[in-house]
Amino acid sequence: MLTPAPMPALRAFVLSIGLALLAALLQWMLRPVFGTATPFLFFYPAVGVAAMRLGWKPGLVVLLVGLASAMIWMQPEGTLWVAATADRVAVAIYLAGCGLLLAMGEQLSRLSIRASQAEQHLALQVHDLQALHDLGGRLLLSTDLEGQLKAILETLCGLKGAHSGLIALRERDADALQTLACVGFSPEGRAEIAATPIGYGPWGTAFAEHNPVTVVDVHADPRFPELRALAGREGFRAVHSRPLPSLAGDVFGVLSVQFEQPRGPTARDNQLSDLCAQMASVLVERARLRMETQAALRKVEVALQSSAVPFNILTPIADTRGTVVDFRWEYLNPAAAKVLGQDIEQLEGRAVTEIQPHAWDHPELLGKMRAALRGPIEFEYQPVPTGGQRWFRIVASPCEAGVAVWFADVTERKEQERALREADRRKDEFVATLAHELRNPLAPIRQAAVIARSPSATPAQQRWSLDVIERQVGHMAVLLDDLLDVSRITRGKLELRREVTNLRTVADAALEAARPSIESRRQTFVLDWPDAALWADVDPMRIAQILSNLLGNASKYTQPAGEIRLSARREDGHVVIEVQDNGIGIPPQSLDEVFEMFTQVRTSPAAASMGLGIGLALSRGLAQMHGATLTARSDGLGHGSTFTLRLELCDAPADLAQADAPAQHTVHPHRVLVADDNRDAAESLAEVLRIEGHDVALAFDGESALQEFKRVAPEIALLDIGMPIMSGNEVARAIRALPGGEAAVLVAITGWGQQRDRAAAKDAGFDFHFTKPVDPAKVLRLIEETVKSSAEETSGQ
Ligand code: ADP
Repeated sequence: MLTPAPMPALRAFVLSIGLALLAALLQWMLRPVFGTATPFLFFYPAVGVAAMRLGWKPGLVVLLVGLASAMIWMQPEGTLWVAATADRVAVAIYLAGCGLLLAMGEQLSRLSIRASQAEQHLALQVHDLQALHDLGGRLLLSTDLEGQLKAILETLCGLKGAHSGLIALRERDADALQTLACVGFSPEGRAEIAATPIGYGPWGTAFAEHNPVTVVDVHADPRFPELRALAGREGFRAVHSRPLPSLAGDVFGVLSVQFEQPRGPTARDNQLSDLCAQMASVLVERARLRMETQAALRKVEVALQSSAVPFNILTPIADTRGTVVDFRWEYLNPAAAKVLGQDIEQLEGRAVTEIQPHAWDHPELLGKMRAALRGPIEFEYQPVPTGGQRWFRIVASPCEAGVAVWFADVTERKEQERALREADRRKDEFVATLAHELRNPLAPIRQAAVIARSPSATPAQQRWSLDVIERQVGHMAVLLDDLLDVSRITRGKLELRREVTNLRTVADAALEAARPSIESRRQTFVLDWPDAALWADVDPMRIAQILSNLLGNASKYTQPAGEIRLSARREDGHVVIEVQDNGIGIPPQSLDEVFEMFTQVRTSPAAASMGLGIGLALSRGLAQMHGATLTARSDGLGHGSTFTLRLELCDAPADLAQADAPAQHTVHPHRVLVADDNRDAAESLAEVLRIEGHDVALAFDGESALQEFKRVAPEIALLDIGMPIMSGNEVARAIRALPGGEAAVLVAITGWGQQRDRAAAKDAGFDFHFTKPVDPAKVLRLIEETVKSSAEETSGQ
């Protein structure tokens, strides 16, 4: 603390003697007026003034001078002896009074010194406060952290009379402190202190130890010899460093001031440094927080901007009664602007109804958005009327005074849901129709069987009954075949048996199948087929299936006496086969739909029960397996339909004459074994074969099948695979092991005919494979061809 400088003692004594002489002179000059009655008159004030102003010792000098001068005047005059009692009393009073004055004066003098010291201290504080106040103003004006820290250092150095100052910070987990701001250093010095390793030098140590480090004289302090060179070049001797504390209680940097002269810190130094360190801490933390917040905001902004999910923030607009009647776009991401079909700038700050006047026409939307002001809400809605068929899923939550809204276009999902429901409905309808279709043939079959068995039935009636049964069974077989084929196509299990085929023969076969329907409905059939043969590498049975399906539909969906046309023409290496009718036609919106599974276009109640809705799906699937296309065309209801199959052609086979030659079928009787645990199936097949003149042996399980084989030595054996005792495969293996067993033609008969089953059958020794229900015509053809050819082979050998 500063104290006023005491007056030099000699000067005080000279002044006190001067004062005493002045009092003596005045006493002497006024003697003619007052006589000798008041020898101390002027000495009282002189002693008082001397004691107060110059101290008690000069006051004592004045007192003694006054005493001497008064005693010289007193009787006996001219001596220092006082004879008269009254004079002695006056002397005593003088001594006592002046003693008192001396004591009071001393006291006052001390008080005055203290007051003067306090005054000086106050002035210094006012000066410091003024400087700090000015600093506050500068800090408020600046927003850049380095500038703010520099202002702090300048003020601190100014107040302390320091040589230089620096503030260094540690960035994250760096090993060194980076000097962020410094004043008073030369550019070279600044470069040298740009980074200080933690624990190195006074400021690195202050940081590492979390405590102030004071170097009173760099050259005398043994702790930091490395600092001397820098201090010498920059011209400082003392260093006062202190850590910068964070609000969380740890240390993130240091503040240091350097002095030209050796010096320890005063209390004021410490106070000012503390204050400035706190200010610097607050500023650095605020800047870091701002940077972190900005970085976080930038991340959120990038996420929102690049998000494909539309997002916006809406603030409510209330009417005079405080009811929310509209919302305003406060923020939108690009995805939201895109959905709304406008630029972000055109939407931000605008009311929703300004852009979409009908936005709140939806009965519940505004209510839901109001609810979102109070709590999160999720819902799906379809905007009216501008939204068309689009569906949106909205997720809205309160955000500040508004609502943050995510919305996603879920039209596709809704469409899928609808399609799923539709498929489900179609499946139910299909099951109902299938049941109906399967039950339909049963009634005539049952009645025909009754008639056929009746003893009173005429041969004509019996034949008629058998015809009915055969027709109805054929109908059911086609139905089941179609179903199985559709299932195989869907599972990718259907195999094509391709061969180079003259498409005319395929068309003839298809026509043969459709002819009964066309004829029964008295429809006109026109065939427009080129004379030149059209060859294609196809599975003839499957192409015939497609065409008979199309012809069957044409007949089914055309009124009696209508016209059906089958045409073919060459086009760019392809054949375009068209099945055209002038029937009920197809509405344009259903042209694609008819190829979907279980689809039936409801044109009239009569048309509804005409099929299962799988024929076209199956036909298109088969066409696609051939690399072909199948499309539909119609000018609408009542205007007929045209189905077009476009198929790639190939070259005619080299042995054209042989391929084209009509097959010669002459039936020869053969020995056949039929084995099936389904007695009806076995016996009916045996019956058909016997009618054709073959010699048939029967067996109903695997073991007896083997015995029968040994007994009759058949040329061909038709064996069911799933038989009791021994499976068909086991029987086949056993037959092949018999002497002469390898010569027989073995045919496997299975329910499903999966690839796996076929492979297993082939392994067991089977030559052919048929899927149930077995078509007797196919069996007869096979017997004819294979047994004949193997017989020829044998005879040729
Ligand atoms: P199905 O004939 O068994 O119902 P399809 O898959 O063959 O099944 O046909 C699907 C639907 O396509 C039919 O129900 C019918 O509505 C329509 N369709 C097919 N062919 C024709 C055609 N030639 N004329 C009019 N409509 C047709």
